[in-house]
Amino acid sequence: MVPGGSACKEVLESHLTTSDYDIASTNSSSNSPLRKSSTGFIGKHGSNSKNGVHDLLECSVCKKLMYPPIHQCPNGHTLCSNCKFGVHNRCPTCHYDLGNIRCLALEKVAESLELPCRYQNLGCHDIFPYYTKLKHEQNCHFRPYNCPYAGSECSVMGDIPTLVAHLKDDHKVDMHDGCTFNHRYVKSNPHEVENATWMLTVFNCFGRHFCLHFEAFQIGMAPVYMAFLRFMGDDNEAKKFGYSLEVGANGRKLIWQGIPRSIRDSHRKVRDSQDGLIIQRNLALYFSGGDRQELKLRITGRIWKED
Ligand SMILES: [Zn+2]
Ligand SMILES: [Zn+2]
Ligand SMILES: [Zn+2]
Ligand SMILES: [Zn+2]
Repeated sequence: MVPGGSACKEVLESHLTTSDYDIASTNSSSNSPLRKSSTGFIGKHGSNSKNGVHDLLECSVCKKLMYPPIHQCPNGHTLCSNCKFGVHNRCPTCHYDLGNIRCLALEKVAESLELPCRYQNLGCHDIFPYYTKLKHEQNCHFRPYNCPYAGSECSVMGDIPTLVAHLKDDHKVDMHDGCTFNHRYVKSNPHEVENATWMLTVFNCFGRHFCLHFEAFQIGMAPVYMAFLRFMGDDNEAKKFGYSLEVGANGRKLIWQGIPRSIRDSHRKVRDSQDGLIIQRNLALYFSGGDRQELKLRITGRIWKED
């Protein structure tokens, strides 16, 4: 038996001894999580009682799934370690002192569980041992994406088709079909950097969606314009594409060739890593022609698939 085996015994007793359980349930409200789930626990952790055990692993305070160390009061009410710190050493269910009792039995039951990924409804059909499930979910390819629209803190999340519809309907983003583009960016007072905003265009190409960002910001003291492409999908797929951007006039030209970044990387992260076509404002105004009072850039580009 591992060290701490005695605690395990104590835990088992407090869960399974009828008298202890009666004390606990008379002292607490009638919908105690223990009462609700006890059949799941006793009924063992086969797939048919999965929901019961799953309920039991839900912290009675924050309702999140519990991970070791799982704590319990002397009456067997369990709670997660985060919540234990928040309740001033008093069981939120029966108000007994919590002490420092680990619920090793429940930790072990959790270990034996296999649960579906939480993004099952988004298409992930993998099953995971309880303790690796969380880690998988942080990297699951089916986890929802954040809205790629820059400039506002939009909290919408979803899969790619949902986000494409959202960009079009809610952000009124321009949508284009095709893998080449020729875009004009016009701004009447380009000297106000803080006022110079970002623009987003979405391209539908190779059956996938790409976000072309254009914006003004400052690198140190230098005002610049930047254009870059993000891929609406995961990084491993983004790497299968390449793109180029060109801007110029009067026989001069800047060319950028790159690999689109996944929208898993925030717009800001990509911008700050300067992974795109960067045009100093002076040069941008030169390319704009005229009296340098207006920004008029024509950016051409192409997206291709790498072999
Ligand atoms: Zn909790
Ligand atoms: Zn308690
Ligand atoms: Zn998954
Ligand atoms: Zn949005």
